[in-house]
Amino acid sequence: MTQITTGIDQAPVLETSLEMPYTLTTGRAVSVFIDHLRRHVIAGSRCDTCERTVVPAQDYCSRCGGEQKTLVSAATTGTVTAVTRTPEGAVALIRLDGVDADFMHRVDESGGALAVGDRVEAVWAPEPVGTILNLSHFAPVSADAPAAQPGELAEVDEGDLAAQIAYSLSLPYRHSYGPNYGRLFDELGSSSGLIGSRCPQCHNVLVPPRAYCELCYVKTEQFVGLKDTGRLHAFSVIHMEFVGQTRKPPYVYAEIVLDGASTRLIHNVAGIDMSTAQRDLKIGMPVRAVWKPEDERNGTLDDIDYFEPIGDIDQP
Ligand SMILES: [Zn+2]
Ligand SMILES: [Zn+2]
Repeated sequence: MTQITTGIDQAPVLETSLEMPYTLTTGRAVSVFIDHLRRHVIAGSRCDTCERTVVPAQDYCSRCGGEQKTLVSAATTGTVTAVTRTPEGAVALIRLDGVDADFMHRVDESGGALAVGDRVEAVWAPEPVGTILNLSHFAPVSADAPAAQPGELAEVDEGDLAAQIAYSLSLPYRHSYGPNYGRLFDELGSSSGLIGSRCPQCHNVLVPPRAYCELCYVKTEQFVGLKDTGRLHAFSVIHMEFVGQTRKPPYVYAEIVLDGASTRLIHNVAGIDMSTAQRDLKIGMPVRAVWKPEDERNGTLDDIDYFEPIGDIDQP
């Protein structure tokens, strides 16, 4: 048993990023809108019921709920109805000429701050980019351009439309391990093995080590070295693939209670025939950690490659 010595200010920090790639199905109206931006046309739609015209084109009217089957080619000039400034630039609400709702986009203020009522016109991207940024931004009209009215849009071949847009949401963050997890990873990194923390009141040993006992709400004060053997507490055989998996299915997700520990450690069970794992594995089975070779370890719980069964449920 060891006294806690790692200070909170010495705790290591994990810098990582949560990646969420996905594709967005845009639907008919937005597909028409994005597709037409490549041809320098701003596509809107007109409600068949209340005759309201909006940009970008919508499948259904946000006012009356009616279908918006009529697609229009909107004017590329309009009037600023609101403007806001961010460190990355200015964004404005623009009422395109002949349209009944505002359209939000970037505006160019390099020639001076824009105000409500100012006239602006579309500026197109030099190269097509396949998103709303084909329409790069709006800038003050160069001359007194006359207000244009929306016209009917030519027939659209819906088979040509971009049905999906690929996106990737990235959430970078820093996570402090704190003195307890930090100490666990230090011990793993120096190949000293697994540790937990003991509650002075109920004497439970928490793995991974925590600063407070969840049952007694008292501070844990001692680290305890643990064996790398334990019992299978629960398991699932995973056959489905999903984003973020570090192993290829099929594999066994397992909750293991290490010998001498009171809580469950999440890991994998392998070294077995996966086609019969569901039948062969038993709750309570003894298991043992299979460690990666020394030169492949990096001071995380992944230094344990997997746990393997080491006997029957009844054998201690
Ligand atoms: Zn309507
Ligand atoms: Zn306790």
